Amino acid sequence: MTKQKVRKTRFTLLDMGDFDAYKAEHVTLTEREQLEDAHKRIVWPIPCYCVLVQHPVLGNVLYDTGIDDEYPLRWPENLLKEYPVRRFRGLKDRLAELGLSVEDIDQIILSHMHFDHAGNLRLFCGTKAGKDIMVQEEEARHGFLLSNIYDCEEIRYRYDGYVRHEFNGLGGISFRLVKGDVKLAEDLELIHLPGHTPGTMGLVVRTEGFGTAVFPSDAVYNAANYGPPAMLPGMCACPKEFGESIEKCRKIAEQEKGVVFFGHDVKDYQTYKKSPEWYE
Ligand SMILES: [Zn+2]
Repeated sequence: MTKQKVRKTRFTLLDMGDFDAYKAEHVTLTEREQLEDAHKRIVWPIPCYCVLVQHPVLGNVLYDTGIDDEYPLRWPENLLKEYPVRRFRGLKDRLAELGLSVEDIDQIILSHMHFDHAGNLRLFCGTKAGKDIMVQEEEARHGFLLSNIYDCEEIRYRYDGYVRHEFNGLGGISFRLVKGDVKLAEDLELIHLPGHTPGTMGLVVRTEGFGTAVFPSDAVYNAANYGPPAMLPGMCACPKEFGESIEKCRKIAEQEKGVVFFGHDVKDYQTYKKSPEWYE
């Protein structure tokens, strides 16, 4: 049933679990927190997810591929230590729950190439989707360059977060580079949201019943970033662009009375529907 194309667009969140991150990377700390953080880094658990859109024309569209299904074996030691995974739910299992396998995915779109968003590309080697992975050109330039300058074991993930072997040199994997905003269909659009990384890309999905959903990925980590007023996180490639990207999401959400699904919000995440439930 789910392998057939749907008659109307629908989407769901594929829960990937939680990992610990430094709070200062995601929000501006209060003065008190800054003192505490200087003494001992404040850590909080953040949820992680992919989005599966089922579209009448485009088929199964997967936005992000999450944390590598075999991360304990495949992550560099320092990444395992810096960002310990507290709760893990793999991509293959989430798809299987919906009666799908990697072969059933028609299109992959990467919000950006960080380890918690592009971790399972290897699973798609040789598949239809694996031969045509959409990513912003700026993101590919940035990710491939950084990951090839530094040794994986040397990388300070707090600053770049790219793991070379997760996307580089994989046989059976090709990328389609896109620039700026791209309309895939009337009800499915990609929006360029630089700031977190130069090529962070959001997804806008419109369904008949739910209306407009904006997925900004790490361009808006959480409700605190979104405000209003917008609050910048401690980790971003370009603070000015980060602020502008938040406002770009807000504008779409306000114009279309839509909902912004934050990338890593501890609290709001509890309220989002996850697979096998759908937004239709
Ligand atoms: Zn990121």
